[in-house]
Amino acid sequence: MTTEIHALPDNAAAHYSGILADVAEALPSSFELAEQLLTPIAGEVWMGSLTLHGKTEPGAAVRSSRSVPDRVRAKVFLRDGFVCSYCAGPTIPRCILVALSDVFPDALPYYAHYRRGTVHPAYWALAPEADHTLAHANGGSSDAANLTTMHAICNTRKSSLAAAALPPATGASALTNWDGLLSRYADIVLAGNQHGRRHSAASYHPNWLRHFGRLSDLGRLRTSTQPIS
Ligand SMILES: [Zn+2]
Repeated sequence: MTTEIHALPDNAAAHYSGILADVAEALPSSFELAEQLLTPIAGEVWMGSLTLHGKTEPGAAVRSSRSVPDRVRAKVFLRDGFVCSYCAGPTIPRCILVALSDVFPDALPYYAHYRRGTVHPAYWALAPEADHTLAHANGGSSDAANLTTMHAICNTRKSSLAAAALPPATGASALTNWDGLLSRYADIVLAGNQHGRRHSAASYHPNWLRHFGRLSDLGRLRTSTQPIS
């Protein structure tokens, strides 16, 4: 069953990240419990505008982060503690959300080539971009020093305001233990060997684990008896 979501409340990042953290924690020991914990948001699809992979719907003034290599994005997200520099809310990297969609393809829909109504709103509420502090179009570099972690949705909000009108990020101290579910990432990928279906190439999750420096997790994937496919 599909539930169309047309607008997100201000607390959407906290709401979705809290549920997905519980799901990820339960997953290694009980798929059934994880599935049950996902129920409150299962089958939601986002009907609003969306920026994924630097693609923007017509009319939306969102700066692309396409020019930033994945390994630099990973470095920026790690440095910023997976917290959005705009709203100070929790982020979950898209690759980890995709791993969850691999396990729960119907409850947490994902479509790599976004179309309205095909992707769970958690992607819009939680996935970060590496946002240029000084805009790329204005000569800003794509080095980590000129990049900051920002929700795609917050990037859109920021783009619609003058820089001087940006509210200061507050509340980050409440998220000191937040890791964007990175410590759960390998377990989620492993669960995808038993349940659901893959949305990406076999190298996608191993590459991101490498970008995040999770080499022991990478070893766990390689030694798992099930092929990553
Ligand atoms: Zn944000």
